[in-house]
Amino acid sequence: YAQKNELLTEKHIREVMQQAYDRFKNTSGGANASYIPYLADIDPKLYGIAVCTADGKVLELGDTKFEFGIESISKVFVLALAMQQRGPQAIEDSIGVNATGMPFNSVLAVELDPQRAVNPLVNAGAMATNSFVKASGSAAKWSMIDDLTTRFAARRLSVIQQLYASETATNLHNRAIAWLLYSYGRFYGDISEAVDLYTRACSYGSSTRDLAIMAGTLANNGINPVTKEKVIEAGLCPRILATMMTEGLYDNTGSWVYHTGLPAKSGVGGGIIAVAPGKLAIAVFSPPLDKSGNSVKAQKTLEFMIDELKLNLLDAR
Ligand code: GLN
Repeated sequence: YAQKNELLTEKHIREVMQQAYDRFKNTSGGANASYIPYLADIDPKLYGIAVCTADGKVLELGDTKFEFGIESISKVFVLALAMQQRGPQAIEDSIGVNATGMPFNSVLAVELDPQRAVNPLVNAGAMATNSFVKASGSAAKWSMIDDLTTRFAARRLSVIQQLYASETATNLHNRAIAWLLYSYGRFYGDISEAVDLYTRACSYGSSTRDLAIMAGTLANNGINPVTKEKVIEAGLCPRILATMMTEGLYDNTGSWVYHTGLPAKSGVGGGIIAVAPGKLAIAVFSPPLDKSGNSVKAQKTLEFMIDELKLNLLDAR
């Protein structure tokens, strides 16, 4: 173990970041998400890598200050809020924690097993999780989501209004999923309110740096490594990370864990976070996606870095 920790000096992490950057910066393949018009227009060449260590160092390379749609990565932090309020058991019982093995916006997953009601990291379960947040009314719920996000990120993120408008105008499929869940008694509040909160949280602008710090808080037992503030109860982190391990990259999660052994979460904006508990978190941003909706270049970058830094949790060597 001592040997492994020697790999995690600032100098070595920087070297590995640079190697990954040089190796993958010209990688092509994949395409920007096109079903949300705003995302289709983002420069596909943007590329950023950021690391946040559990002791609070933030290392950055490339376009790490560029703010892009956080999209599904927000699901992790709304889950953190609902879990903090209701407890892990209620999340398991009312939302579900098993993998769907299906695309993130699958209607079939709901239809096959509404009792399992998907899980908090796919669209259906994430909208249900928003409906599960305890507060009276949409404004109060949003301010809770916003406050917790701020504490995770160590700064207040803003919603990209153009993205929010773009998604609101085109989220008919999500609305249909929400109604279907509701019909099965697996929705816990007003439908349009929850869909709107979900869509707004997906529309946060976050930089690669922000995401590294947010994920770094999950790597550091719920304490923000930069501000040192306690953001959530330490005991919730393993539960949140477990959902990332089983569903973080949707129907590609099996392959992801097979290669990396780490919990991660992607978003169709092109970001992916990966968490090595107790050690560090890595965030990578590159817009072109594979058919599951995961950034092609971010997956390659992360796989390389996780391997070089020997972060795979399932590898005891
Ligand atoms: N807002 C997007 C949606 O609802 C988020 C999907 C994603 O990032 N996978 O479709």
